Amino acid sequence: MGDISESARLDALRQLDLLDTPASESFDRITRMASQIFGLPIAAVSLTDKDRQWFKSRVGVAHQSIPRDRAPCAEVAERREPVVVEDIRADAFYAQSVLAGTGARFYAGAPLITREGHGLGALCVIGVEPRTATELEMSALRDLAAMVMAQIELQHAFGRVDPISKLANRNQFLDDLADLERDTPGEQRVAVLVDLARTDQIDGIVRVLGSGHLDQLVREAARTVRERLERSTLYHVAATQFAFVLPPDYDAEQGVALLTARLAEARATSSSRFVTTSVIGVVPFMAGSTAPADVLRTLHGAAQDARLQESGVSIHSYRVDDAHQRRFRLLQDFGEALEQPDGQLRIVVQPRVALATGRCVAAEALLRWRHPELGEIAPGEFVPIIEQSAAVRGLTEWVLHRALAQLAEWQREGVRIPLSINVSASNLEEGNFAERVVEALRAHDVAPEMIELEVTESAAMKHAGRAVEQLRRLSAAGITLAIDDFGTGYSSLAYLQQLPVDVIKIDQSFIRAMDAGEREQALVRSMVAVGEALRCRVVAEGIESEGAAELLHAMGCDEGQGYHFSRPLPVEAFAAWITQAGTELTRPHADT
Ligand code: C2E
Ligand code: MG
Ligand code: MG
Repeated sequence: MGDISESARLDALRQLDLLDTPASESFDRITRMASQIFGLPIAAVSLTDKDRQWFKSRVGVAHQSIPRDRAPCAEVAERREPVVVEDIRADAFYAQSVLAGTGARFYAGAPLITREGHGLGALCVIGVEPRTATELEMSALRDLAAMVMAQIELQHAFGRVDPISKLANRNQFLDDLADLERDTPGEQRVAVLVDLARTDQIDGIVRVLGSGHLDQLVREAARTVRERLERSTLYHVAATQFAFVLPPDYDAEQGVALLTARLAEARATSSSRFVTTSVIGVVPFMAGSTAPADVLRTLHGAAQDARLQESGVSIHSYRVDDAHQRRFRLLQDFGEALEQPDGQLRIVVQPRVALATGRCVAAEALLRWRHPELGEIAPGEFVPIIEQSAAVRGLTEWVLHRALAQLAEWQREGVRIPLSINVSASNLEEGNFAERVVEALRAHDVAPEMIELEVTESAAMKHAGRAVEQLRRLSAAGITLAIDDFGTGYSSLAYLQQLPVDVIKIDQSFIRAMDAGEREQALVRSMVAVGEALRCRVVAEGIESEGAAELLHAMGCDEGQGYHFSRPLPVEAFAAWITQAGTELTRPHADT
């Protein structure tokens, strides 16, 4: 027997999930009959595994398995024909077997053959005296072996049929997709999922009508869908979801057109309970290149998208799924980035200048991430992803320590420029955030007035009570606080007044919009006025031109940040930039 068919045979055996399962009466009954018909003390259903004969059912045998080597049952499985050994001790081959060692003298076995023709093992009887087997006995043994096979297939099918609709279930759908992969790799096919209703709608039905009635409705829906299918098997893949694969001659576009028309027609003509709530997800896939489980997963996503569509039909967009996977990957990989202190992450610094003099008064530390495979990832992409996870604590911590280490280094070189650090909303939820910042300052031997923390307007609002508490403690420790992206949130002046804020950074969208005209300029002018009323220093973000800088200065805005002055710089370049631009802090002569 060749290796390929042996591995296919083993595969078939394993797929039946029979090996190492407990004994069951339905098999034992047949084994007992075999033993009675032959009038012999020993009988077994013996399955031929890779290197053992494993007994699914046995009468008069103590062992659960014996080695496959020289076991007559293995010969039955391999030849797929009955085998009779009238006297084991007199048989040149089997005289040396384990079976002979147990005192067995007679063996008769009939093959267990699957519908696909794989020999799984044997139904066998064993005697302790040599004897012959009659024609009648052997034909009974063959019949009983066929009954064993029927039982095996029945049990297997049981886990593959939905008890309510009697349709093949999710397992069968996945198995059949896997078969498709083997049979026609590379073929483009279209999978379809019909989702009968949203979970809350289903819950509503169960609450009002009871679950028995829901089963009835699902059965009706299954019939309705099946009636409309040609040449496709319908699978019942979840309580209220059905799936099928369109025949090979349909492409995705034709499939969507067909399904949209069928659904519209059903909505117009059918009285099924689910006709208005059903939606259809469509997923084109290539057999062999998309794993069956992924096809099903994307089907669910497409069906969900379909809920937002009037037609009720949505085709899976790989672009949306790619974006989803990228988010997931960034989230996963960021943890690793945090653990490599000098590897993937770095900060760049963007100068902030006094509009009156053009000199540098501060700088903002901005995080940069170079992913080892995906390259530079913009903070606008990864920060919001990390902010929604617990890793945001590590992110802020990393930037804080990196910034403080940089400040300490500049301090030694005689550069005294405060650094501003961005803090996320959920950092303010951490009960000991303020303490950890103060602790970090101490560890790096940096004075509190050398850092400023930027929180967005919405972050300060989000957990109002707790956020205010943390901000108060930070302020009390001598740390400057700034409201970032001012104007994009909805905080009231009354609320802002309660916050210990020193700086307001007007969001760059308002600054850039000033080019558009008088109204936009008036808006910025009033924001500057608000800042003054709150007795804050006002900073304009995103200044890209000399004109904007002059206008803002005339409005009374104190400071500015933007490409017009400088883009964010690598920390090494910043010291050089400062030397030529000058600072208003401790290096008054630097520009001379
Ligand atoms: P942000 O805190 O408002 O930072 C200002 C952003 O505007 C920076 O983008 C900066 O490069 C950009 N920018 C500055 N001047 C101009 C200009 O004249 N024109 C234009 N078009 N853009 C200008 P960046 O570095 O891409 O950061 C984007 C956002 O990511 C930041 O907005 C901040 O919300 C977040 N972020 C960056 N680093 C960190 C960090 O360390 N922690 C946290 N929590 N968030 C960070
Ligand atoms: Mg900022
Ligand atoms: Mg900002």
